[in-house]
Amino acid sequence: MDIFKKQESNVQSYANNFPVIFSSAKGCWLHTNNGKRYLDFLAGAGSLNYGHNNDVLKQALLDYIDCDGITHGLDMHSQAKAEFLTALRNHIFSPRNLDYKVQFTGPTGTNAVEAAMKLARKVTGRINIVTFTNGFHGCTIGALSATGNQHHRGGAGMPLIGTSRLPYEGYAGVDGLALFETMLNDNSSGLDKPAAVLLETVQGEGGLNVASTEWLKRLSSICKQHKILLIVDDIQAGCGRTGTFFSFEPSGIKPDIVTLSKSISGYGLPMALVLLKPELDIWQPGEHNGTFRGNNHAFVTATKAITTYWANGEFEQHIDQRANQVNTAIQRTLRRYPSLFIRGKGRGLMQGIECKSGSISSAIARTCFDKGMIIETAGPDDEIVKFFCPLTISESELEQGLHIFEQAADIVATKLIKKAS
Ligand SMILES: *Cc1c(COP(=O)(O)O)cnc(C)c1O
Repeated sequence: MDIFKKQESNVQSYANNFPVIFSSAKGCWLHTNNGKRYLDFLAGAGSLNYGHNNDVLKQALLDYIDCDGITHGLDMHSQAKAEFLTALRNHIFSPRNLDYKVQFTGPTGTNAVEAAMKLARKVTGRINIVTFTNGFHGCTIGALSATGNQHHRGGAGMPLIGTSRLPYEGYAGVDGLALFETMLNDNSSGLDKPAAVLLETVQGEGGLNVASTEWLKRLSSICKQHKILLIVDDIQAGCGRTGTFFSFEPSGIKPDIVTLSKSISGYGLPMALVLLKPELDIWQPGEHNGTFRGNNHAFVTATKAITTYWANGEFEQHIDQRANQVNTAIQRTLRRYPSLFIRGKGRGLMQGIECKSGSISSAIARTCFDKGMIIETAGPDDEIVKFFCPLTISESELEQGLHIFEQAADIVATKLIKKAS
């Protein structure tokens, strides 16, 4: 452990909650260097939707490496990229009636968000981008200006400009969209006409807030009416996390721009995309650049993930069943421990439980860790325990994790009662 204390910057954060050294991982399980194993209910913050070292994806990658397939390709054509684009078109876009061109950005989510914001400004000639309370979009300056969290914003060290904030659905009981419309139609509202609206349809870091279909449809129609571009940041909620490949599918809206990263490679390899309606593709060659836009290993595993899990509806059914299992446990826990919890939140395998305080959720997460499970919190005060297992998790592994959580809730509830008496 000493080497980390001595050598690694204080900026590390997850490691503080899970102070062990991991050495290998398979499926839903993480193994430490001294033989302990942990059930992974964090899954790389949603980057490991298909689990650690997924056998099918791993074999495809091993075969590719064995043939000396291209590893780094800038943005040059490669066979691996052609196969990825074909799989994306045939199994994701076409069945959903979506028509997008694909921009490969630098391999982090925040880089895709930067590119999406740039493009929206370039296309419309406007600067302002409307974002929402509790939104999280990344930590580089442009994406950070769209992010709500003060802890992250505080790290900028410079003014965060070019965005305006509106209340997300349900925020402070305000009808944010009514406000938006009023402000757009009022010459004196002080809201500069935006280039775009940028949002997560289920807010990941901000606390698993879900935008309803009705709300999304209203937002989409306001955008259309005022010629404002609609950008959905599906970096966390996409790739099946909410039950469908894209989080916005159940709402029927068709965003102008979509960002994807986290689980798009399927294997935890860095990769990020901007999907843009063809008529928006006014980029000049190289205008948004990046050395690592051609991670061909990521293309290989991304292709395999799509063809294995998204060629038919079976995987969606599996996610739905596991999501019901999580929901049943949440409802049971809410009834059993009214002193700890307020409500269940989220959708699909992007669900969590809101605790009465951040100290309760932290105590539960800590207790889960003691009992062999990695789980994280989210929300403005970290008051939400977030169940983020790989989507490929089996019924019995999920039951095991939910059982650990319920045991932890029991321990924390008992401690609270002792303290009170
Ligand atoms: C994680 C995340 C990002 C940022 O991705 P990085 O790879 O960490 O830069 C952006 N938007 C959302 C919704 C995210 O969950």
